[in-house]
Amino acid sequence: MPVPLLDVNAQNHAIADELRDAFDRVLESGRFIMGDEVEQFEASIARFVGAKHAIGVSSGTDAILLALMALGIGQGDEVICPSFTFFATAGCIARTGATPVFCDCHPDNFNIDFDSAEQCISDKTKAIIPVHLFGQSVDMDTCSAFAAKHHLAVIEDTAQSLGAKYREKSCGAIADFGTYSFFPSKNLGGLGDGGLLVTQDDQLADTAVKMRNHGMHPKYYHQMVGGNFRLDALQAALLSVKFAHYADYTAQRQQNAAYYLEQLAGIDGLTLPTIDDGNTHIWNQFTLRVSDGKRDGLKQALMDQNIGCDVYYPVPMHQQECFASQAKDARTSFKITDQLASEVLSIPVYPELNREQQDTVISAIKSFA
Ligand SMILES: *Cc1c(COP(=O)(O)O)cnc(C)c1O
Repeated sequence: MPVPLLDVNAQNHAIADELRDAFDRVLESGRFIMGDEVEQFEASIARFVGAKHAIGVSSGTDAILLALMALGIGQGDEVICPSFTFFATAGCIARTGATPVFCDCHPDNFNIDFDSAEQCISDKTKAIIPVHLFGQSVDMDTCSAFAAKHHLAVIEDTAQSLGAKYREKSCGAIADFGTYSFFPSKNLGGLGDGGLLVTQDDQLADTAVKMRNHGMHPKYYHQMVGGNFRLDALQAALLSVKFAHYADYTAQRQQNAAYYLEQLAGIDGLTLPTIDDGNTHIWNQFTLRVSDGKRDGLKQALMDQNIGCDVYYPVPMHQQECFASQAKDARTSFKITDQLASEVLSIPVYPELNREQQDTVISAIKSFA
């Protein structure tokens, strides 16, 4: 039985009528940029994560870029982020003119290592971007203490962790800014690109709202330079439909992950993902570590049986060609990051994955091991 890594059709076709109604509503309204649909969606997410302000934007990447711009990060500044992340985290730092400074991560939860981050501090460090990778929160108490000690702004890259919790708090709503993505493969996947940022700070929210639309306020007057980071009404309407089902999607991912954790326990050479104390994991990815150089072999074996799987991420930021000069000035080792890049393999955990499909994945892994 073929098992895809992700099946967006299974999710979207099940609610096709609701999505069509939303489309019709926007078509009838004739209002396609921003407006009520965007405001309603923003309000739902703000309520859900417990943030004072939510600002819908064009993508998760633009959410990070806008957060950095609103914080005034630019030329001459340094921003610390983990090397083991999706490119957007680091790319946005570079796009502001600032320098991304990469640090190592933890082997168990794949998230930023603050001891390594400590080695990256200089008098130019202005901010840090912890990434809640694969659906699990960074240790935010340590992050907040680190940021306070060094007077840094904090942007939580929450693209993979909408609704994940750190103790009682929602990821993204803890620091200065939290950024989210609605790329189709994220837990709240849109029908196209979309993103959002949240903040508790009135002043930062005001700046970000203006910068989302060319820094314009009032119309045709620009106190600052922003961009076009606006969210479409259609995308917001479709996302609102999907958000009504979000609790179910999350619960199903958690059930699937729990089943893997039970069924794949105790296999030699295989390390299962762990959940840190006090965290609620929402499983954007279920990521194994395969030791002894067998990762690529397992990947091939699964692909040969039509089981979707992939490596997130094969090339860490300090190994990227475009960051060669930053890597030359590295201030920390990337021992864990390099090890993870050679060991990780993500297997299907999407909500609509059924038991029979999961058993197919499990027996394929067991027969390889
Ligand atoms: C997906 C992702 C982004 C970028 O989101 P887009 O909506 O694709 O621009 C940023 N950071 C991380 C960690 C991501 O996984």
